[in-house]
Amino acid sequence: MGAGIMGVAVHPGQAGSVHVTKLAQPRPGPNEALVRVRRVGVCGTDTEIINAKFGTAPAGAQELVLGHEVLGEVEAVGEGVTTLRPGDLVTATVRRPDGCPTCRAGQIDMCLWGNYTERGILGAHGYMAQSFTENVRYLVPIPVELEPVGVLVEPLSVVEKAYRQAVLIQRRLAVWTPETAVVLGAGPIGILGTLLLRQQGLQVYTLARTPAPNPAAEIVERAGAHYVSTRQISFANLRDSLPNVDLIFESTGASALAFEGMEALGINGVLMLLSITGGDAEGLVPTDAINRSLVLGNKIVAGSVNAATEDFARGVKRLGQFEHEWPGLAVSLITDRLRGFDDAHRIAEAAGRGVKTVLEFADA
Ligand SMILES: [Zn+2]
Repeated sequence: MGAGIMGVAVHPGQAGSVHVTKLAQPRPGPNEALVRVRRVGVCGTDTEIINAKFGTAPAGAQELVLGHEVLGEVEAVGEGVTTLRPGDLVTATVRRPDGCPTCRAGQIDMCLWGNYTERGILGAHGYMAQSFTENVRYLVPIPVELEPVGVLVEPLSVVEKAYRQAVLIQRRLAVWTPETAVVLGAGPIGILGTLLLRQQGLQVYTLARTPAPNPAAEIVERAGAHYVSTRQISFANLRDSLPNVDLIFESTGASALAFEGMEALGINGVLMLLSITGGDAEGLVPTDAINRSLVLGNKIVAGSVNAATEDFARGVKRLGQFEHEWPGLAVSLITDRLRGFDDAHRIAEAAGRGVKTVLEFADA
C-alpha cells in the first residue's frame, strides 16, 4: 500500500458502500498527536450512515472515513505538545467548532449555528483507520487499566452530559435528591445510563422490548437495576406502581416513548431526550393530559446531544468507578468483535445483533 494507511470509508448517500480505502500517511502538526488506532466502536449513527440516511464527506472529498468511538495509542507528538507522550492511551471527542458564540465560549456540544463538523459523521473523517492526527485539546487520556473499556467513553460521555444537564437544570430546586429513575431503551446508551444512575445510588427501572434473558438484561440486573420488558408489562402499568419518578433518560429511538415519558415523569422531574429519531413517525398524543401534568408537576423536558470534553473526562472516571463496583461488567457490553479491515463489510449486520460491536485494529 506504499506510504499510505488503510481506512474504512463509505460514499455518503450510497447505501451499502462500505469499503477499505487508502489514505495519506498522517503526520502530526504543531499541538497535534499522531494516534495509532486500537479499536473503534460501532453505533446506530454508523449504521444510518451505511444505509445512506446520514453523513457527509469532508469538503472536496468523495468518501467519508467512518468511526467516532475510538481507543488509540499516541505514536508521536508534534511541536509544542507537553500533555501527551508516545505510548499514552487516548480517546477523542467528536464535534469540532464553527465559530458561533457558544463554540467560541468552548461549548461545542451546545453549538448555536449548527455548522459544526463531526469526525466520522459530518464533514470530517472518522477514526476507522490505522492512525489519525488530532489537536491534543480534543484528545482525552485513558488510564492503562481501562484499556479494555476505553472505547466506551464516547457513548458514556453522551449520558454523562445528560446527567450533568439534569443536575444543572435541577439547581432550580432548593433540594434535589433523586431516588427513582426510568431508562427507556437498553441499547448501549440505555445500559450506560443505567450503570451511571446505579453508581449514583438511584433505583433504576430500565425498559426495553425484548424479554429477559438477554445480554442487556443481564448487565442491567448485575448492576442492581430492574429490567422490564414492555412485552410483559406496559410502561403505563409500570409507572402506576412506581414511586415519584425523578429522572428519565429516553434512548429508544422511538419518539412516541418521549411523550409517554412526559406523562410518567414525577413531580419536579426531568426527562432527558437522547434519541435522534431519523424517521417521520406521527401519532395521537393526549395533549391536554400531558400539558396538564407538565404544568402541575413543574416538570422539565430537555433534549441533549453530543458531549463536552469534561463529559469525556467524567466518563473516564466513571468507568473506573464501574470497574470498582462491578468488576468486568462494563466490558461485557462489547458483544461482537470484528477484525478492522477484513470484516468492514459486516459492520451494519453485526451492529444490529448484540449490545456493542467493536472493530479491532490492533494487528492491522
Ligand atoms: Zn457552533
